[in-house]
Formats: sequence, structure tokens, C-alpha cells
Amino acid sequence: MKSLWSHKEASTLDDLGLLVYASRLLGQNPALVVWGGGNSSAKGRSKDLRDREVATIWVKGSGSDMKSCAAKDFTPLRLEDLLAALEREEMTDEAMVDYFGFAKTNPSAPRPSIETLLHAFVPRKFVLHTHADAILALTNNQKGRLAVEQCFSGQAIFIPYIKPGFTLAKMAAKAFSEFPGARAMVLENHGLITWDDDARTAYEATIEFVTKAEQYSLQQEKSRPTARAISRLGKALSGGKRREIFEGIAPALRGALSAEKRNILRFEDGAEILEFLEHPGAEKSALAGPATPDHMLQTKRLPLFLGRPKLDDVAKLSQQLREAVATYREEYLGYWQRNHRASDPMLEPFPRVLLIPGLGLIATGKDAKQAAVVAEIYSHSIDCMRAALRIAAYKSLSEAQAYEMEYWPLELYKLALAPAEKEFSRKVALITGAASGIGKAIAWRFAEEGTHLLLGDRDGKGVSAVADAIGAKYGRERIFAAEMDVTSEKSVYAAFADTVTRFGGLDIVISNAGIAASSPIDTMRLEDWEKSLAVNATGHFLVAREGLRLFKNQGLGGVFVFNASKNVLAPGKDFAAYSAAKSAEAQLAKIVAIEGAPFGIRANLLHPDAIFEDSKLWSPEIRAQRAKAQGIKPSEIEEAYRKRNLLQVTVSGRDVAEAALFFASDRSAKTTGCALTIDGGLREAFPR
Ligand code: ZN
Repeated sequence: MKSLWSHKEASTLDDLGLLVYASRLLGQNPALVVWGGGNSSAKGRSKDLRDREVATIWVKGSGSDMKSCAAKDFTPLRLEDLLAALEREEMTDEAMVDYFGFAKTNPSAPRPSIETLLHAFVPRKFVLHTHADAILALTNNQKGRLAVEQCFSGQAIFIPYIKPGFTLAKMAAKAFSEFPGARAMVLENHGLITWDDDARTAYEATIEFVTKAEQYSLQQEKSRPTARAISRLGKALSGGKRREIFEGIAPALRGALSAEKRNILRFEDGAEILEFLEHPGAEKSALAGPATPDHMLQTKRLPLFLGRPKLDDVAKLSQQLREAVATYREEYLGYWQRNHRASDPMLEPFPRVLLIPGLGLIATGKDAKQAAVVAEIYSHSIDCMRAALRIAAYKSLSEAQAYEMEYWPLELYKLALAPAEKEFSRKVALITGAASGIGKAIAWRFAEEGTHLLLGDRDGKGVSAVADAIGAKYGRERIFAAEMDVTSEKSVYAAFADTVTRFGGLDIVISNAGIAASSPIDTMRLEDWEKSLAVNATGHFLVAREGLRLFKNQGLGGVFVFNASKNVLAPGKDFAAYSAAKSAEAQLAKIVAIEGAPFGIRANLLHPDAIFEDSKLWSPEIRAQRAKAQGIKPSEIEEAYRKRNLLQVTVSGRDVAEAALFFASDRSAKTTGCALTIDGGLREAFPR
């Protein structure tokens, strides 16, 4: 591992600036700290509210991320007050948090790290704490302490595992006073601390100790040939085949994992993951416990490890996974019952990580972002286990120690800092015809409510631009685009498969893609009639068929919203091909409602009228033809449509999006087979 320190960048910084700089350098490397992990501090002087200079320590606030931290994320506290705590015999976690509150010199600064006292008690200006994979590998094996001593030849203090807090801080202070020449401290099953009065030296000590630990583990491997991966599964599957299997099993798996709340899945099959899963010690290691308590907040204590996966049969593998999830749940209940205190509400009893040898890793989360964080963190757990296995058998926290951390209120507090979930933030929608007009308006509105989106359109470039614009605002990990032709079975299948690959399943289908064709019947070309039927009727059938298959497989119900037209209720002159095809769509939607109901699948219809804004349907040609049919000029058409409705309003894509949102939400949970007009009120199109 290399030092990234730049003298040029650091030379102009003050104490707090140097702390931010060093912390960001550490945070940049996920082998040192994963998302939200680690903390750091600096000691210096600042002014209190009466303008007196006081000895101050700045400690990273709980929940902020090192790689993007700024000065505001560091909490200033009176050092003298914190040092006074050293005189105490004991202090509960609650008392400690209150104590920090009184010691802050800025009351609105964030709650400082749980490890604040440890930072205060190390009598050096800069103190840096990481959960480096290589250090964890050194402590998380049967050799543990011996490996640390061999590796660092007595330059580091070793502290046996204990939960972070007052007692650990006191132990660290005592150890430091007994060994003032030490350059670092290794916390068993937890991480590394380095220090110095010079920020660069403190930072480079972290790099040096981690590098030594990496080298030590690699050297040990030479004497342990059995620690190398041994393939148990014979010929490895291709990447394409692995994706295909994931697509096949994901809906049923998501169904099983979403019994309480819906989850988003993320599939990872990098070479290092696959190699680890084939290691003879993989299952035992993975089921021994987390690499560090810090990982557990996202990954839970244990993954689900599927020992003998039936990779050659998707149906059997899905069944195996359903059973394994049920067993995991029971075991989690047992773990909670054995360890819980009266005040502990049980956390979700489902795995956040599933490991399937030969296939890969599946991470779950409340949204795509969290699933990605879980996958990233667990890939570091894997790095740690791989490196630990080179030294000796992997070892982790005991069940009781792990439980104590998983349910530690101070750790759970970090979760409470997350923003409230939006109504659709655990949901996935596929929208057809999303490159323009109503489909695009629906996509924006659904994204605003937190929905994960797969946007389909025949105009691949156009729909990608829409996805990019929405993704830039609402998060790229949740918005994807696919070129999709609703008249092609293959293309429709591919778009659904794409949705499953990206998110693990689907909750909402907005069947919206449509085209317009205007002509009197006697002069209509057969191909125009057939084209309208292909898109406006058959297109909806293909989408509905694929959606029903997926929803049934997933077993979580599902929602269809069909965008039909005012023309279904009140057909217009010269609009036979369009109106007839849209009527077929409407009839189809009602049958979807009938056939889907036993599975909790709902289907409803929208009947908008004349949405001109941003619409491809209203091409100049169609405008001219519709104007002609109504005996007006093309330039008068928008005004004519406005005037013909009762409310005399212009209807927009956003109005239709609101109606789609209502039908997609649980607020319409008891409505199916229903139609809603969005047309400003047209007497001839009143539903009856
Ligand atoms: Zn820590």
C-alpha cells in the first residue's frame, strides 16, 4: 500500500485542515475503511464562547463518511473535560454520550464517535483509526495475538477484543502509559490505531503497518499450501450463464426475502468472490462471524451460505433458496431469543448477504444504494477472510459479542441518521415508452418518490438521455434505460430480464408505449391498421404476459397501470386504428385484473386526453390530420382541445403521472379493473 500524502496539498493546512486531509486519504481506500467506518482526531486549541483559548480535540462525528468528510463533520470538544473521565472507574454508554454533549464547544456539532475517549486518552496530536482488511486478517485467525507480535516485532500494542466505549478507552490509555514507545495499537477483531504529533507521520504509520500485515499474510501462505483455493465445482460457469441463473432465481428469492419489507437485490460475481467461495474453508469462515463489528451494521452477523447449490436447475435452486431463507429466519429468531434484552426490538430476520459457490454473492438492501454498500462491505469481509485463512483458521467474535454490537444502541443510532424512506423507495417499476411525453413524465414523478426504474423505449438514445437526466438528480444506481420494442417478444423479455438483473425483481409495470395513426377507414392502409394493433394492443399483451409471469414467480403481488385513451370511451372520427387497438388494450387490462387478482396483482387503466407537451405521439402529421378531422387549423388544435373539456384546462403529462402514482401505490390497494379519466372532464367520455 502506498502513501498518497502530497506535501504541496498539505503544507498550507491548519490542524483541523490536516485532520480532514489525512482522513480523506484514508477514506479513499476501501481496504482501510468501508463506508461510514473508521474515525480520526486532532488536538489543538480553539476559542470557546467567551473567546477564551481552550485545549480542544476534534473528533469525527458518528455516521459521516471519511472519504468525503469536511471540517463540519468533526466535533470540537474540551480536551480537559474528556481527560477528566480517565479518573472514573466506570461509565455507561448513555452516560458517556451525555458527557460528550456537555464537553462539546459547539452544541450543534454532530454526536462525536463512540471512540472519542480513546482518541482523547492517546497523548498525541493526531490519532487515526481504521478497520483495515489486512489488520483484521492478522487478528481474526487462530494465531491472532502471536501473528500480530510476529508481524510488528513489538512495535504495536495488542488489545484483546472488547466492545468500543469507556472500558476499551481506559484499557488503551493504560497500555499506552506502559508502552509509550509504541507506534500503533491493534484492536483484536476490530482495527488499527496510529498516532503522531505530525499528521503525515501518523497517516504513513497506518500505511506502513497495513503493508506489513499484507506482506505477513502472503508470506504465511507459502507454508500453508492447503489454504489455496481448491475447485469443488469442476468446470466454472461462464459469466453469461451466471447472470442467466441469477435472473432465473432472483424473483423467487426477492419474494422470500421481502416477507416483511421489500428488498432490492444486487448480484456480484467477481473473480475474488468466486475464488473465495470455492475455498475449502469458505463456509466455515463465513459462518464464524463478521470481520469487524463495524461491518455488521450493514451485513448482519452471518451471511446465508448455500452449501450445495443446484446450479443446473433454476427451479430447484429457487426452491433451495426459499428453504434456506426460511431456515436462516428461524436461526436468527433463535439467536435473538438467546441473546436479547427486554428492550431490543428484533431487526429484520433476513440475510443481507447470500453466498452461492459457483455463482457469486447476492446483497440485499432497502434500496439499490444500500445493496451496493452491503456488497462492497462484504467483499472486504471476503478479502479479510482470504488473508486470514493464509495464516490459520479464521476466527471471529463470539455470538454474544456479535449480538452485543448488532443491537448496541450507539451503533443503531447511525441507522437513525438516515433520511426517512420514501413511499416507493423499496419498489421497482418498468415503464414502456419512457423517452418522451407521458412515459417520461411518469418516470420523473416516480423517481421523485424514490422508485427504482427501468425505462424502456424503441428510441434507445432518447430513453438513455432521459435516464441520465433523472439519474443525475435522483441517483444513478436506481435509474436504467433499455432499448425496447414492445412488439417484439424477444425485446420485451430482455427488458424484464434486465430489470431483474439490476434490482432482483419488479413491483410496478407502467404499460404506456403507444403510437397514433389518423385516417378515414375507407382510405386507411392495411399496414397502418396493423401497425397500430401491433403497438397499441399486442404490445400491451406482451408486456402484460411477461409481467404476470414475473409477478407470480415473485409472489409479492404486483401492479399494472395501462395507459389507454379517452378514445376508448369516446372514439374520434378518422381514428379507427388507434381507438380500436386502445379498446383491445382496455379489455386486456380488465382480464389482467381478473386473472391477476388471486395473486394480489392489480391492473388499472388511465384515460388521458390530448397531452401535447413533449409528446412524440402528436407529430406534426398527426396534428394536421386531427385538425382536419375536426375542421380546424393545426395551430388551433391545443386550444380546441382545452376548450372542449368541462374544466377548460390543458392536461399535462404530470397530471397523468399523478394518476399513475395513485394506481401504483397502496392508496389504491383495493382498486382493480378500474379506469380513471384525466381529460379535464369530457361529457361523452364519462366512464359508465
Ligand atoms: Zn472502530
